[in-house]
Amino acid sequence: MKYPFIKTSLPGPKAKELLEKDKKFVSPSYTRPYPLTVKKAHGMLVEDMDGNIFLDFAGGIAVNVTGHTHPKVVEAIKKQCEELIHMSGTDFYYAPQVILAEKLTQIIQIKGEKKIFFGNSGTEAVEAAIKLARYYTKRPGIIAFYGSFHGRTLGSLSLTASKAVQRKNMAPFLPNVFHAPYAYCYRCLFGKEVNSCKLECISFIKDYLLSKVAPPEDIAAIIVEPIQGEGGYNVAPEKFMKGLNDIAKENRILLIVDEIQSGMGRTGKWFAFEHFDIDPDIVTIAKGIASGLPLGVCASRADIMTWEPGAHASTFGGNPVSCSAALATIDLLENGLISNAKEMGDYLLSKLYELQKDHPLIGDIRGKGLMIGVELVKDRETKEKAKKERDKIVYKCFEKGLIILGAGENSIRFSPPLIIKKEDIDIGLEIFDKVLSDVEKEEGYR
Ligand code: PLP
Repeated sequence: MKYPFIKTSLPGPKAKELLEKDKKFVSPSYTRPYPLTVKKAHGMLVEDMDGNIFLDFAGGIAVNVTGHTHPKVVEAIKKQCEELIHMSGTDFYYAPQVILAEKLTQIIQIKGEKKIFFGNSGTEAVEAAIKLARYYTKRPGIIAFYGSFHGRTLGSLSLTASKAVQRKNMAPFLPNVFHAPYAYCYRCLFGKEVNSCKLECISFIKDYLLSKVAPPEDIAAIIVEPIQGEGGYNVAPEKFMKGLNDIAKENRILLIVDEIQSGMGRTGKWFAFEHFDIDPDIVTIAKGIASGLPLGVCASRADIMTWEPGAHASTFGGNPVSCSAALATIDLLENGLISNAKEMGDYLLSKLYELQKDHPLIGDIRGKGLMIGVELVKDRETKEKAKKERDKIVYKCFEKGLIILGAGENSIRFSPPLIIKKEDIDIGLEIFDKVLSDVEKEEGYR
């Protein structure tokens, strides 16, 4: 079958009907970059309501790690549904939750014994991490980073500092949250270069934050994404992550690593923090863990997760169907998909570097495994952000049948399912290449 295959104008007639109803009945707070109305999806391909076939390089925002409707995941879900859908793990016991907890303690490289808390989403995993860190340390404060995205419920939103619109009119937030510059080295806030900097972003935390406004004895945790997701697919350098790790250990502050977007094999390792020599105390996981079923996890050292019964729980958290889907997902990941993420990620990265030679709009390319960001600039010297161009490119790719998403103000993210093959990458990049050229022509760059 030839794919992608677009046979109607977009949106097509059936899509248009749905969009009208959506406009009338669904919250306008969602950020849809283009009118893709999905009817069904298998593997790397998505079919819309009018029978158009798209190639998916976004994977449901880094969720569909096993591709869409993987037969083994579907089978596990069906089997579980026939036996038990819900009982509430907060009040009763059932095997899938316990088996998954045990499995997660084996794959999450937190040192020593571990324990697992289950919720339904990324934001709930982060809420659990905030509460656990406060409960254990009896300290109120949290340090987070500019550009970070940790969720949209009020606790996690207090940490999120990715786009102002996400916080607009939502105050008051959690008190005692302090934001520091992330090591976003392409645009270092201190005007330095990554290879010659003196880690000013780490000094800022030590010499300003902890010395002048936030006494370490009042700080429960530092929370960090090893690769910022919504903030623009920014990869932290080793020395930054190590610096945070050292600050945390020196001050008995807990280190929370948010792996909600970067985890579950996407970067070529189970979790992105494994690329660094660090030792987190708490890890948050969601998105890819159950191939699309809702599940959030807060994992921690066992000696930290000692809160008493009633301290925290969630009715649906860790429901049997999501846990079974997660077990099937983990099985697929450890039997080939993580190594495929590494191999295909390297291939995609090398192809993007080739494209950069021909496209003045491409300013920076960064990533690990299949978590790759391409930052677009109007000028490589001034690094002026090419925001309008980015949005145009994302839209035009959709019109040609390639599903991609933006990240940050002017980056494009590549977060395809981990089942992706070289042929898919070649097809996707052919479209991306063509669209870049078209937009560069239209906007006067060539
Ligand atoms: N943390 C990170 C790093 C994320 O990327 C996201 C979602 O994009 C979240 C937390 C919030 O997850 P959810 O949307 O499932 O609440």
